[in-house]
Amino acid sequence: MKSANEFDVIIVGAGIAGMYMLYRMRELGLSVHVIEMASDIGGTWYWNRYPGARCDTDTMEYSYSFDEDLQQEWEWPERYPTQPEILEYLQHVAERFDLRKDISFNTRVETAIFDEATSCWRVSTDDGTAHSARFLIMATGCISEPNIPAIDGMQTFNGPIYHTARFPHDGVDFSGKRVGVIGTGSSGVQAIPVIAEQAAQLTVFQRSPQWSIPARNRSVDPDLVAEIKADYAGFRARNRLQSGAQLSHIPANDFSAMELSEEERQRVLEERWQLGGFPFFGAFNDITVSLESNKATADFVRDKIHAIVEDLTVAEMLTPDYTIHCKRPVLDSGYFEIYNRSNVHLVDLRATPIVAITPNGIRTSETDYDLDIIVLATGFDNMTGALLRIDIRGRAGLSLRDSWANGPVNYLGLQVAGFPNLFTITGPGSPSVLTNMMVAIEQHVEWVTECIGYMVDHEHDCIEATEEAQEAWVAHVNEVADQTLWVSCHNWYQGDNIPGKPRVFMPLPGFPPYVEKCAEVVANGYEGFVLS
Ligand code: FAD
Ligand code: NAP
Repeated sequence: MKSANEFDVIIVGAGIAGMYMLYRMRELGLSVHVIEMASDIGGTWYWNRYPGARCDTDTMEYSYSFDEDLQQEWEWPERYPTQPEILEYLQHVAERFDLRKDISFNTRVETAIFDEATSCWRVSTDDGTAHSARFLIMATGCISEPNIPAIDGMQTFNGPIYHTARFPHDGVDFSGKRVGVIGTGSSGVQAIPVIAEQAAQLTVFQRSPQWSIPARNRSVDPDLVAEIKADYAGFRARNRLQSGAQLSHIPANDFSAMELSEEERQRVLEERWQLGGFPFFGAFNDITVSLESNKATADFVRDKIHAIVEDLTVAEMLTPDYTIHCKRPVLDSGYFEIYNRSNVHLVDLRATPIVAITPNGIRTSETDYDLDIIVLATGFDNMTGALLRIDIRGRAGLSLRDSWANGPVNYLGLQVAGFPNLFTITGPGSPSVLTNMMVAIEQHVEWVTECIGYMVDHEHDCIEATEEAQEAWVAHVNEVADQTLWVSCHNWYQGDNIPGKPRVFMPLPGFPPYVEKCAEVVANGYEGFVLS
């Protein structure tokens, strides 16, 4: 007989991954509990409430596929859903499948220790409760641990400082205010045009310019929706065959930029620019591997930036000097255009770095900027941050922080050697952030479900990745990544945004071969794992 806090399975996190994992574990008939530090479900879509926050994956692809009625019934208004719309959808899912009854909210997991005597995980939380479970599933998110930069004088600022991932739930009124935004990644680029509309003055503090592509949001096309819904399963299956697990209704072109004449290249790029969004990067099949194709694409976007931004000096400041698509692509709605407004000012932090935050604003090496509100759009400690914040200890007290001191190591992005029965959903070493994450999450949840079901059926207590399989997998991830241009710039895929973080390429490029490998491992009796 189990006590109230003993479960077969504990899941940490109630975002898209944790919610689906809970649903699947219930289906297996296991006792399962989710621990979530937020006050409700939603994860990313609960936390990121900054102005302009929305998805940049097309609506019909960024939703669960596991329930046919759900996907048929839900209706999205626009090409890219807004943060409130996605949260509403996830709240509907939570209600529809009665998920909340098995979730503890406002509770942060602080430690997780594997007890070798009982083969159970002992999990403790910030409210002092101790839980235990045979299986521990980390659905803590790849992009969930905010990066708050250590800037001198942060505490002295007279006004509020908001991080995009911790934005107030009732919004912020920027009207009449002097606002400073630090950071020009996806969050900054979405927020800046909206803030510029409201604020008296907006100063953007840019460390790296972005190759941003117009999102071209619009109302959904009812004919396209009907066509997709007539065979939603087929549509999802075609998505999963794409390298990034998305965009099957606008497939990528299967030719190199270098196969075309200059005139044809410009025509293809212009066509894709007009389509907007991620399909732009499907213009050629080698943008992420061929320097020449990459340069042709970058030159096209450079010309666009220069055509939009009226002030040549500002246009130059906004033009990146690194390979396009090397940082995670950014989609915008009128981003470059806002620099033509008289109330928007751009500061190049490479030329004049931030020295301090003062009571009145931000001081760079050259100027003091007086501000009423500061917005940190400074991103996240991605892929490993949320996991390493928890003190996780496996066999013989082995700490995950020690095991990953030189960067994350694991097998299939799912399990770390020395940490039995611990699974990471979209962990480093899996395609995760290089895909439509909905698809990557569903694939991982379904793999873990099959694995746990197999263990229950075959009365196995423990599953654990071997050191050899782990070593070979890490070498494989590096080998694949090294063939791409994703290693050619400073980006968060390699931890470059966090001072002191080991420089390791964390996600695995290529979704379909990864799925095949996962299936092959199962077909070969969980090859690379020890089942006991
Ligand atoms: P999350 O949604 O991050 O959920 C993790 C949960 O774990 C959080 O609720 C967190 O509070 C909880 N948690 C973490 N640590 C603990 C702990 N110690 N104790 C208790 N709870 C804990 N991906 C796409 O594919 N397309 C997009 O368009 C897209 N847009 C994005 C927009 C933004 C603003 C951001 C930040 C990310 C976006 N992503 C997008 C990536 C997005 O994170 C994933 O698509 C997806 O939402 C991840 O779901 P998840 O459940 O894995 O993680
Ligand atoms: P990000 O891409 O990491 O961008 C953070 C920005 O802050 C970068 O411009 C970075 O500069 C800058 N920065 C970081 N630390 C700084 C410091 N100390 N001083 C000055 N500048 C600093 O973070 P994000 O914009 O929050 O996006 C993170 C990821 O979440 C995205 O890549 C994407 O995967 C996802 N996301 C998606 C959407 C969407 O449209 N669906 C929206 C938001 C987020 P450097 O580039 O020089 O590091």
